[in-house]
Amino acid sequence: MKKRIGISYTRTLFENYWNWFTPADLGNDVELMELSFEKNNTGDIYQCDGFILTGGVDVHPSFYKGKADYNNSPDAHQAERDVFEAKIYNYSQLHKLPVLGICRGMQLINVLQGGKLIQDLDNGNERHKKEESDKEHPIIAEKDSLLYTIAGSIRGHINSAHHQAIDPNGIGSNLKVNAYDDDDERIIEGLEFANKTNKGFMLCVQWHPERIKEKEHNPFSEKLKKQFLTAIKETNMKKIVIINPATEEIIAEVNEDTRESLHSKLISLRVAQPAWHEIALADRVKALNSFAALLEKNIEQLAAVLTAEVGKPLQQSRNEINGARARIQWLTDNAAKYLSDEIMSSGDGMEEKISYEPLGVVCNISAWNYPYLVGVNVFVPALLAGNTVMYKPSEYSTLTGLQIERLLKEAGMPEDVFQVAIGGKETGETLLELPFDGYFFTGSYKTGKYIYEKVAPKMVPCQCELGGKDPLYVADDIKDIKAVAAGTADGAFYNNGQSCCAVERIYVHEKVYDEYVSEFVKEVKSWKIGLPTEVGVYIGPLSRKDQLSVLEKQVTDAAYKGATVLAGGNKMKTKGYYFEPTVLANVDHNMSVMKDESFGPVIGIMKVKNDEEAIQLMQDTEYGLTASVYSAERKRAENILQQINAGTGYWNCCDRVSAALPWSGRKHSGFGATLSHIGLRAFTRPKGYHLRG
Ligand code: NAD
Repeated sequence: MKKRIGISYTRTLFENYWNWFTPADLGNDVELMELSFEKNNTGDIYQCDGFILTGGVDVHPSFYKGKADYNNSPDAHQAERDVFEAKIYNYSQLHKLPVLGICRGMQLINVLQGGKLIQDLDNGNERHKKEESDKEHPIIAEKDSLLYTIAGSIRGHINSAHHQAIDPNGIGSNLKVNAYDDDDERIIEGLEFANKTNKGFMLCVQWHPERIKEKEHNPFSEKLKKQFLTAIKETNMKKIVIINPATEEIIAEVNEDTRESLHSKLISLRVAQPAWHEIALADRVKALNSFAALLEKNIEQLAAVLTAEVGKPLQQSRNEINGARARIQWLTDNAAKYLSDEIMSSGDGMEEKISYEPLGVVCNISAWNYPYLVGVNVFVPALLAGNTVMYKPSEYSTLTGLQIERLLKEAGMPEDVFQVAIGGKETGETLLELPFDGYFFTGSYKTGKYIYEKVAPKMVPCQCELGGKDPLYVADDIKDIKAVAAGTADGAFYNNGQSCCAVERIYVHEKVYDEYVSEFVKEVKSWKIGLPTEVGVYIGPLSRKDQLSVLEKQVTDAAYKGATVLAGGNKMKTKGYYFEPTVLANVDHNMSVMKDESFGPVIGIMKVKNDEEAIQLMQDTEYGLTASVYSAERKRAENILQQINAGTGYWNCCDRVSAALPWSGRKHSGFGATLSHIGLRAFTRPKGYHLRG
């Protein structure tokens, strides 16, 4: 695995920083990555093992309460660059990753450590400010400094191109000066941590080692670079390797969070929560509506990322993002109605009211199959209600999780109100140990049960949206068998069957069975299978490689016990995690395919004699998420659905979710609800007020 150096983009001479690292420096084990405030590629910060904060335009004076108007001030500051680079620096400190601050980079670090800058070096400008070329002058390094240890010399000869500088009376906390101008002790030429215990490599220089003349022979350039590279190679971040399931290529390697970084994120969420709750609900609504607008604006780029990491066809990625926008709209439209205080009665000098208080800091451990939809179901109402949120995307949808974070912040969400926890099972385990005020989980029954048990002693709310084995019944009175077959096949195979509410088993009345099955198979065989980025592809790869063998086992088990394979049945022999869309007939409940969640493109279809047999089979499951009935008669369908122990009932439709209705499982499909007014209030604690006066 290569180590990555993130270099912050500057509009002035960026190539000098890039080219400072020669092919010999980098070898086969280090590479460079551009981190650009213009592109706002914050997600890439998480892929780096160390950083160079480069030179360029002055830091915005508002960052250190400086005077806005001063000699030599630039035509325009780049406050967005300051904000972006602050994220880089904070990230480096969270994970103790190496940082080299050059010129402006040093000034920014001083400011971020609470220090100040002076705007002009007054007479010193003669000696320091770049004109046609950099000025050059000697410096004196401090003897007990890291700089001296690295450069191996007290005196150095460096270049200078600045007029803004570190305020000698405003050196940031835990920073110390490691070099001065040899002529003027007031001019600070370098900074480093005063107390280096529990800190990563960090060195700041006011000069430009990347472009100094004869830099290869100047220890204040070459030795600094070499030491920085050594520090990069010594880093040891655990990474999630993200693989495109269609091509099996590695598309990213993202640093996982550590116990320590998660703990610090929790603290910042806790500190930020009261202020977030204090602001008017209308402002929280506004921020989330801006987030929805950004989803719309960036839809192509977001869909491309989603498709690359989970493999769903590009159009289905766009559909998901649009679906998420629609849900946000409903939630924000209804937030005031359901989250405001409710006066229950008043009169005779007594008012009784309910106030919906936020839980505090909530933890959302999420799944990969619809990262936008299942994410939005939780973090949007949680934020609307005034909570701060630790969002753990699945390790299989990490990049999308980072896009969500980027856009929420771009939408105006305060920095510490929403944090992403990066990692898999181990990261999840750590979150369970930390003291959150509520846990909201979406994922498998196995993990849900574990989480519920683990969280129980904390006595905080815990909600689980889990898997399903959702049944669908086709009654004998349906009119258009072809249309029903096509619609229900979509319900089973959309997103490659990787939906919690995908149709997982079908029961068909014997009178219409043959025709339905024939139309169903025709529909399935008409689909285009291929690269998810290709137009018209309906079946792409599965998101997870290990699911291929789960499906293989289910099909083999069914065939062994007498099922007929009417379509598909095998793993595909192409690159990528492809499984043929598979239709099985002559199935029964002794087969795993009719009992255990498939979560893939496999469906069993079973003939039934009447509604009673259908009900008995639909009920024969440990799950209880959704159930569906296709019939010409609403009453007949509702009568059947009332007898099924599931959180959602569908008549003449399936595999759909509405923001206005509760999304809720029963039995092994979980408990609690997201969406609807119930889901909005799920992130609150009611307080009853009895107010006399
Ligand atoms: P999963 O249970 O494997 O993982 C879900 C999340 O839990 C991931 O973020 C994972 O990293 C984390 N996790 C795993 N082990 C953990 C542990 N020991 N402690 C803490 N966290 C842990 O599920 P998945 O494969 O991501 O998702 C697929 C499942 O989710 C399917 O069963 C599907 O039906 C279900 N699902 C349900 C809904 C719903 O709304 N009911 C929606 C989407 C998906």
